[in-house]
Amino acid sequence: MNNQAELISIGNELLSGRTLNTHGQDLGGALTAIGLQLMRDTTIPDEIPIIGSAVQEALARTNLVFVSGGLGPTVDDITRDALALLLGQAIVFDQPTVDHLEGWFAKRGRTLNPAGKRQALVLEGATVLPNSIGAAPGQRFDLPDGKTLFVLPGPPNEFNAILNEEIVPWLKERYAGARPTLVRIVRTKGIGESDIVTILEAENFNPKDVALGFYPAMGKVEIRLTAEPDHEVSVSAAEQTLLHLLAAFLDPES
Ligand code: AMP
Ligand code: MG
Repeated sequence: MNNQAELISIGNELLSGRTLNTHGQDLGGALTAIGLQLMRDTTIPDEIPIIGSAVQEALARTNLVFVSGGLGPTVDDITRDALALLLGQAIVFDQPTVDHLEGWFAKRGRTLNPAGKRQALVLEGATVLPNSIGAAPGQRFDLPDGKTLFVLPGPPNEFNAILNEEIVPWLKERYAGARPTLVRIVRTKGIGESDIVTILEAENFNPKDVALGFYPAMGKVEIRLTAEPDHEVSVSAAEQTLLHLLAAFLDPES
């Protein structure tokens, strides 16, 4: 069982520039914290064939696939239809969700109409993941080959509520042996990336088992060193070397 996941964000507005897609950042952060890796973040339009092929490809590559968006009551909410078609699975009403929706609407002085009720439709056989702050629930669908498909609503606060309340605890149990990647951060100021790399190359700085990331912004560069949990010694040594080589340029505010 590898520790890798993919995200497929669905919504025309995410591609047209209307809406900033925030799910990748939220999911990437949540998975990284528990030692899992988000390997891809694919954004696609609300179109059944594209959803089908994107999910199929992601499931062929990885064990954990997260799909978000398109679970609301409107005509552009076609994610569950696309997944039902792909998986050869019926779509059924989840009665506890219908009850929850009735209560949710009643609390707001509204009645649940047939359109609103559509949000209680789930893939047959899915485990329903309650949505504590919104209408459409999340779903976990366990595939026969041991892979897992998560289906989540688009609004970021609902996506995050289900992720943090329902999915992260499940993942922690399922991947109990996962350990977070080691991270060290060195922050510089007043030196550009090309000058940094020139210094590092002159000293043959090329640490084994440690990945380097350079993130420049406004006269500063953040250098992130990451390593698998077994390489504590390597990552600490690389950090010390960097601190030494770039001593004249360390950001005093860091
Ligand atoms: P939907 O679940 O597709 O009905 O979307 C509900 C709301 O969530 C809409 O306002 C979307 O623009 C927003 N939304 C959907 N996906 C994302 C995303 N990946 N990042 C930010 N907002 C999103
Ligand atoms: Mg949508």
